[in-house]
Amino acid sequence: MDTTPVAGVADLPTLSIVRHPLVQHKITLLRDRRTTTKDFKELVDEIAMLMAYEVTRNLTLAPAPVETPLEHTTGWLVSGKKLTLVPILRAGLGMVEGMLRLVPGARVGHIGLYRDHSTLEPVDYYFKVPGDAAERDFFVLDPMLATGGSAAAAVHSLKRAGAERISFICLVAAPEGVRRLAAAHPDVPVYCAALDRELNEQGYILPGLGDAGDRLFGTR
Ligand code: URA
Repeated sequence: MDTTPVAGVADLPTLSIVRHPLVQHKITLLRDRRTTTKDFKELVDEIAMLMAYEVTRNLTLAPAPVETPLEHTTGWLVSGKKLTLVPILRAGLGMVEGMLRLVPGARVGHIGLYRDHSTLEPVDYYFKVPGDAAERDFFVLDPMLATGGSAAAAVHSLKRAGAERISFICLVAAPEGVRRLAAAHPDVPVYCAALDRELNEQGYILPGLGDAGDRLFGTR
C-alpha cells in the first residue's frame, strides 16, 4: 500500500496519506450525506482495517522456526514492542474493531476529553492505558484531525504516562490540525486517508464528512 508523504505540502512533514484506491473509494462513500449510520459504521471499520495494514508496515520481525507438514523451515513473526490502540472517545471507538482484525493481540486503552469552558483547552476526564507504557507502541485513533487540540492533548497525556512511541491515525485531516499536532509533538507521525482544505468557523473540516461521532452512533 502506498503512503507517500503529501506531494507539494512541504510544511506537513509528519503527515502521510494512505492513497490506496479502496481507501479513497470508501472515504468518498463516507463523505456522502446520504450514507446511512449502518453503512457509515461499516465503512469506518473497513477503512481502519486497511489503514492498519499500512501503519504497521515498519513493525519489527524476528526469525521463527516452523514445522511445515513437509519439513522444518524458518519464517518470520512480528516481534518487538507490544501494540496499543487508544481511541479518543467517542468517535475513535469506530476504528478499533477494524484495526484489531489485523492486530488481534493489541491492547486497547481509552482517552476521553472535554473542552474546558474557561480556557477552551481539552482536559482528559477519562484515561486508561496499560501500565507498561514505555514498552509499547501506541496508535491514537480519531477519525477527524480538526483543530488538533484534542489530538495534542491525548498525545500529551500518553507521554505523561510514559509512552515513548506514538502514532496518530485519522481518516480525514485538516492542515490546521496537522500543523498544531506537529508543533506540539514533532515526533508523532500522522496517518490520514484524506487531507482536506480547511476548517470552518465551528471547527468542522471542509469538505469533510460532518460530525463523525454523530454519524457513527446515529445521534444527529
Ligand atoms: N469532528 C468531527 O466529527 N467532524 C469535523 O469536521 C471536525 C471535528
